[in-house]
Amino acid sequence: MQGSKILAGKAVAEFVNQQTIEKIEILKEKGFNPGLVVVLVGDDPASAVYVRSKGRMCEKMGILSKTYHLPAETSETELLNLIDELNNDDRYNGILVQLPLPKQINEAKVIESINHLKDVDCFHPRNVGLLSIGSPYLLPCTPAGIIEILKFYKIETSGKDVVVIGRSNIVGKPMANILIQKSEHANATVSIVHSRTKDLQRYTKNADIVIAAIGQPAFLKPDMVKEDVVIIDVGINRVEDASTEKGYRIVGDVDYNGLFEMSSAITPVPGGVGVMTISMLMHNTIHACAKQNNIDL
Ligand code: NAD
Repeated sequence: MQGSKILAGKAVAEFVNQQTIEKIEILKEKGFNPGLVVVLVGDDPASAVYVRSKGRMCEKMGILSKTYHLPAETSETELLNLIDELNNDDRYNGILVQLPLPKQINEAKVIESINHLKDVDCFHPRNVGLLSIGSPYLLPCTPAGIIEILKFYKIETSGKDVVVIGRSNIVGKPMANILIQKSEHANATVSIVHSRTKDLQRYTKNADIVIAAIGQPAFLKPDMVKEDVVIIDVGINRVEDASTEKGYRIVGDVDYNGLFEMSSAITPVPGGVGVMTISMLMHNTIHACAKQNNIDL
């Protein structure tokens, strides 16, 4: 055993970002300045960190950006009114409402209220539908980042058995939806397993590629997969660690150390899928700008 090939997200993100920067130049030469607006409601610290890094990345790339930070007690109507305003604001090609939202706000209603052409997260039912029939408007950011990792490291998906653990609308379902399509970097045979799956190992043991999006530290263990499996770890979990300055560290959904030797390739956490999500958001924002202005990028 030589050990696994580490699928570092940083190299892929740099590659994607470079392409995005070049495309921003093309848009600017044509007189268009792409813009992204992010709406954060409440005081969830993890969400605040994500939102800040989105703003910083926009600034770095030359994308116009604005963040609205609304109080936790914001009403659904107040949020819907703001989205309506932003739908009609030509400066912004993309609108991202950071999830989760406080309890008094219906998430589905908010997602549906976003102009589908500005839906850079691809959560709007219309865009979910387009994705499932194989004509996506854009691809949702985290699954899109995973596809870029697989492409960059030349990991074949066609004809492969892929198991996605987790059925969320943000990761699990769209990931499976992308990989089953009759298209390049897809054409896989996909199973989705979840909390109600009987004998989950029966699926993971036979998988060529396992994509774990569960939200449970080190859920996937070596005895659940076969030799030479490719492992994509989407999980971002905080676990207590008194030896660190912050008192916690970030771990994924897979037992990285246990799986390292037996897998043929594996994404680390941090430094794997996580770094891709923001890159794909930038990518989606500039493609939304191009599509809204009938420009072929
Ligand atoms: P979610 O909570 O919406 O969904 C989790 C899924 O895991 C559910 O479908 C559930 O059925 C399944 N699950 C839970 N327990 C299970 C069990 N014991 N056996 C089998 N399946 C089980 O989570 P999500 O939004 O999809 O996120 C999953 C993880 O990915 C989290 O750690 C989250 O922080 C992370 N995440 C990372 C990124 C990124 O950019 N890297 C983006 C989104 C989410």
